[in-house]
Formats: sequence, C-alpha cells, structure tokens
Amino acid sequence: MVEGVRWEIRFHGRGGQGAVTASLLLAEAAFRCGYYSQSIPFFGAERRGAPVLAFTRISEEEILERSQIYSPDCVIVLDPVLPGTVNIFSGLKNGGIAVINTTDAPEKFRFHQNVLTICTVDAVDIAIRNHLVVSGTPVVNIPLLGAFLRIFSRIPPEITEDVIRERFRRNWKANVRAMWEGYENAVIRKVKGSGKTMSQESKCSIAVRVPVSKPVKGVAGRTSIWRDFVPEIDYSRCTGCLNCWLHCPESAVLRDGREVRIDYDFCKGCLVCSSVCPKTAISVAREVMG
Ligand code: SF4
Ligand code: SF4
Repeated sequence: MVEGVRWEIRFHGRGGQGAVTASLLLAEAAFRCGYYSQSIPFFGAERRGAPVLAFTRISEEEILERSQIYSPDCVIVLDPVLPGTVNIFSGLKNGGIAVINTTDAPEKFRFHQNVLTICTVDAVDIAIRNHLVVSGTPVVNIPLLGAFLRIFSRIPPEITEDVIRERFRRNWKANVRAMWEGYENAVIRKVKGSGKTMSQESKCSIAVRVPVSKPVKGVAGRTSIWRDFVPEIDYSRCTGCLNCWLHCPESAVLRDGREVRIDYDFCKGCLVCSSVCPKTAISVAREVMG
C-alpha cells in the first residue's frame, strides 16, 4: 500500500455506473474511521453513458485543496472499455494502485510507471449476479469498492458495509453482498511497467481530456448519438446575440462573427440553447435516425 498521511483516489467511469456514489461512500467510510475526507465529482456531458470522473481524498490532516486529482495514489476504473480509450494511468504515482473492472489478468496492462499494484475484478459479473442492473447497465461501483478495500487496509470493510446499508435502504443486502464478493474475488499483483517517463505528461495536464472549448471526437465520442431532440435555429428570428453560443455546455454552437450554427455531430440535445434564446429562435424537433 502507498504510504503517507494522505491518499488520493481517482475514479474513472461512465454515467450510470456509480463512480460518484462510490467516491462518496468511500469518503464517508474514511470519515467514520477518523480521517478527513473529501469527494468531488466531475461530469463531462451530463448523460447516462458519458465518461465521468470522481475524486476522493483521505487524509490524516485537514484537506484544503478543492481541485481535481492529477497525481493519484490509486485509480479505480469502472468501465472495462476505458483502459483502451483513456490513459487511466495518467499521473498515477509510481508504486501506486489501479483497481480495474475487467476479466483480464493484471499482467495484461501496460503503463509507463516502473511498478504498480494492479487489482482486477469482474465487477460486471458480480453486479449481474446480485441483480444490480439499472436500465440495462450493471452498477459496478460497489464490487470495485470491495476490491479496493482489500488493498487499502485503513478502512475496515465492516465500516463500509454500515455506510452501504444506510445509503441503500431498499436493496442494501445485494450491495453488501456485492462489496464482499468484490473484496474476496480481487486478483492482486505487483506488475512491472516500462519505467519510461511520459514527456508529454505534466502534473498540470488534465487527467482525461474532455472536449471543452472546441468539440472534437474525444473521450466522449460524437455526442450526437445520445440525442433524442434536435435544436433548430430559425434565422428569421435570430438577432445574433450569441446567448446560445455562450451557454452551450458542449461548445456545439459555432459562431462566425455574430452568425451561429449548430454542430450536429456534437450537439447532445440538452436544449439549453433553446431555453436561453431571448428571441425563441431555437425550436425543438424529435431526432430522426438514419
Ligand atoms: S442542444 Fe443546444 S445547448 Fe445542447 S448541446 Fe445542442 S447546441 Fe448545445
Ligand atoms: S440565442 Fe437565439 S437569438 Fe441569440 S444567437 Fe442564439 S439563436 Fe440567435
């Protein structure tokens, strides 16, 4: 286990998998063990299935930071697909821990650190067997939390069990079972990495690059595939006030001077633009596929 008075944990998941809840539960359990703790969520596109980050700090001393975590002691990866699309090891300290939802062996993972402790568990299988499936998505957060507790001995699983019981009043039994199955089925190995430095990485770089200022095909992919409704600009009413451009959370409203147009490859259909348009120039239509 990484030594020190502070431990920083970064969760990588997708909307609906419970990354934010796991981060909160961990912080709550740590607090009950007498530590200072903190949980911070970070949402990209606010849709089920979109990449999500969450951060937990656990400390023996007061925590004054309020930032994201760029150099974690541990990463917990909820989505088995993410290791192939996102650098989940970015910034992870040498000698740190990666807890990964996967059916692969720990030795399969490649990383630039000298050595890491890799902990794998088939959290999808555990979630399905315990009927922890919401809208078709296995909720894998609790088995992974169990796997993490197997390595992070500072928080007894019994304390976390209490936190889970209080949080999930209706189906706490299934969640507690899933936590223990994650704990017991975790496969833990020390694995050697390449030991090369990643010159393009810096402490200041964001851990996962989510398109913010200019929409590009990034970790979130083309968000248009999640859209149910389409905003349409009526140019006879538009005055070019740029309110829609300013408020679009995906930067999918493009501007040329005061002329605006919607980039439908990246518009996710949240309709914020329509609600902020002072001239009601943006109407809403149902998405038609094909
Ligand atoms: S609906 Fe409007 S605000 Fe939402 S992503 Fe599309 S263009 Fe942006
Ligand atoms: S908010 Fe409405 S009026 Fe303003 S630029 Fe956008 S579409 Fe045009």
